[in-house]
Amino acid sequence: MNYYKDLLDTNGKIYNFDTLSHKYGLHGNVLHYHSLVAAIPLHWKGKKKTLEKTVSPNFDKLKCKTFKSRTIYTALIKAVSSFPENTVAKWNEYLGLDLDNEAWQSIFQNLYTTSMSAQLRALQYKILHRTLATNRMLHIWNIIDHELCSFCMTETETLTHLFYHCNFTKNFWAKVKSYAYDEFHIDLEFSIKDVLFGNYDDNTEGKYYDMMIIAGKWTIFQCKVACCNPSIEYFIKKLNEFKGIELKLAEQNNNLFQYYLKWGPLA
Ligand SMILES: [Zn+2]
Repeated sequence: MNYYKDLLDTNGKIYNFDTLSHKYGLHGNVLHYHSLVAAIPLHWKGKKKTLEKTVSPNFDKLKCKTFKSRTIYTALIKAVSSFPENTVAKWNEYLGLDLDNEAWQSIFQNLYTTSMSAQLRALQYKILHRTLATNRMLHIWNIIDHELCSFCMTETETLTHLFYHCNFTKNFWAKVKSYAYDEFHIDLEFSIKDVLFGNYDDNTEGKYYDMMIIAGKWTIFQCKVACCNPSIEYFIKKLNEFKGIELKLAEQNNNLFQYYLKWGPLA
């Protein structure tokens, strides 16, 4: 299975979970299936034939550069990627934002500049594309029989409730703020936009700020999955792990200057 058309039956419809699993001998679960389907851009759906064309990135522009696999990969991704207009329109409407496409490009770019961790990038990618498995989504996908928040069990577990509005989450963020102030003398203040999208206006100095927020989101989601309340101890442990990995990589790559620039007072 290499192409979008491999997911389609002879009528151009996406195979259901059972048929797809059987056809390709897959071992994923229904959750993986729905994540895959949700990640398909709307304008692809129903356009089987046009998607069969060969991807042809403009390699001429790359001739003067040294060819590395990353250069070619980036050119290929650029050739097939498209701006997720439906998703950003939903976010703008849902949060009452008026962010233009340039701001959204920075938000999506921020996903890759904030952290080198594949785990954190995957989490943030799902949040931005609104495909994270909140209880509301699990309920829509018929995987669980309710859509209530895993922590308070009173409100619908949407992305905004889970990561910002829930009282249990607010209590957790208050502990993170106290930790940031007591340990590093950082006044960590953030809006719902900062929590969901990061401090995307700043490419360097703001990264330790973003790392604390995304490590907080990681903690919230892992604790939701583990059916326990968000834990400040787990947050501190994970933040130190992410920092330790980046320090080792910076030492190996002789890039400590960038490491200290990024982590600032947390380094
Ligand atoms: Zn809640």
